[in-house]
Amino acid sequence: MTLFEFPMRGEKAGNVWSNILWLTTMKTGYSFIKGLARFVCAVSLYAAAFSNAANAANVEAELWDLANKQKQVHQYSTLFTAHNVREYLSSESGIEEAIEWCKNTGVTKVYLETFRSDYTAREADLKRAKQMFLDAGFEVSGCVTTTYVGKQSTGWELISCYTDTKTQDRLEEVFRYTASMFDEIMIDDFWFTDCACAECEKARKAGVVTIDGAEYPVSGDTWEDYRCELMYRLSKEKVIGPAKKVNPDAKLIIKYPQWYDNFHNRGYEVARETELFDKIWVGTETRDYDDPRWGGKVQYEAYFIMRWLLGIGGDKCAGGWFDYLGTTEHTYIEQARQTVLGGARESMLFCFGGLQGSTGPRNIEALRKNIPELLEVASEVRSRKLLGIPAYKPINSHPDGESYVFDFVGMLGLPLVPCHELPEDAKAAFFSVHSLKDPALERKLASMIDAGNPILITGGLAARLEGEPDLEAENVRLLKVNGEPKSLLDLKRPELDALRSEMLEPFDVEFSAPNKVGLYLYTDGSWVIENFNDTPVEVVLNGTTHELDARSWKYDWK
Ligand SMILES: [Zn+2]
Repeated sequence: MTLFEFPMRGEKAGNVWSNILWLTTMKTGYSFIKGLARFVCAVSLYAAAFSNAANAANVEAELWDLANKQKQVHQYSTLFTAHNVREYLSSESGIEEAIEWCKNTGVTKVYLETFRSDYTAREADLKRAKQMFLDAGFEVSGCVTTTYVGKQSTGWELISCYTDTKTQDRLEEVFRYTASMFDEIMIDDFWFTDCACAECEKARKAGVVTIDGAEYPVSGDTWEDYRCELMYRLSKEKVIGPAKKVNPDAKLIIKYPQWYDNFHNRGYEVARETELFDKIWVGTETRDYDDPRWGGKVQYEAYFIMRWLLGIGGDKCAGGWFDYLGTTEHTYIEQARQTVLGGARESMLFCFGGLQGSTGPRNIEALRKNIPELLEVASEVRSRKLLGIPAYKPINSHPDGESYVFDFVGMLGLPLVPCHELPEDAKAAFFSVHSLKDPALERKLASMIDAGNPILITGGLAARLEGEPDLEAENVRLLKVNGEPKSLLDLKRPELDALRSEMLEPFDVEFSAPNKVGLYLYTDGSWVIENFNDTPVEVVLNGTTHELDARSWKYDWK
């Protein structure tokens, strides 16, 4: 039993009281010895329970202390959705219970949401909860989720038509309200539109975004062009502008969803929006690959998107956000690990209410045990530079038949360095259809081929390049994706070993492993290996054999 496997506070209380109850109802006629023996037994049980409870309390206090000491490196936070504010934070006792849960979980920052799905949390509840959390030593920020804001989109029903003037005004009202209470406001990842109503269609064809009577030209006539301009301008004129007018100290955070290959289609424009906002956040909720409702995402995706956006946002990139939906404890912990390996400074545990039911309690129990290690790894990761194969996804690039191929390539044990710009000095690189977004791609590819560096190129991209540059060179390796990136998970160990041997040659690294084992390298020789398989694996890194249990990780810091 490790320090963190003690039962949580209160678990033993039932035993104590049932024993005492049993003692007091003990009938006469029992022998004195028997009674005494049972009394001694009950007392010792009570003592053990008391000691366990005291130990559990110590463990919780230690986790809270540790979380506070480490929060500059990495911090755990949770969100109270607007509905959670109503349900859990509308009384002092409710807030006290929530505070205790957060402390026991190593959560040192909370986000109180003012608006979600046309529901506005009460100002009095928000203000009281904010003060009580502050008094208890927490950091407190606000949050807004822009679902059911006004006129409904013709697409996803909870999304809005932001061409609509009244919806734009409602949006401003929500952010004014929130900024009147909070200095930092996160916007959850529904800050997009997929509306194609007549009004939107007219504006798209006219190539004009109109806000408060002012007209902003759109650079093209696709939905992508219109929506990107619309969401950028709205962010500026109806979100950030009004919020800072009400509260000049207000800092606004845009949280990007996990679906990075589709951002631009719905108006997430990571270059300009990242520049505009004070901070950016990243959705890292990969959930269970096999879950019928939430599945289809491999664990490495959380790492890929976190690193890709870290490259774009730099110091503005604050944290990764994952949840309990469609997870087991294993995937929940994997989300936490990938977020930390991705270089996040903060992990958001979405959300307090959700974590009280379904898989939440089991996930949190597992997380509490892992937090000390996660904080330690976060500290090691944050002080190191990645080493590996640049994986090139230009901003607003289109995946065509290779959606999220990077995530699957990472599952093959190729240590990727996600990037939105191709490094000039890349010693190796991975190219997919996405890279066609770069007008200088052919020249860059040709120069890498000439330099003799190993290049991994998808079948989809090779077909689109039509022989220019020449891909017959020895250092070019074709990766057959066949329009189905998940088919890469079927590759066998010998094929993968050969692939890694070629691609890792410039780094003097040899790695032999089955599929679904992630490798993460650092310039000082440090490494992390994570086994995503449900069975133990034996891998060989630079001649040394390592055994990893199912769904476990191993690392070495130099
Ligand atoms: Zn519309």
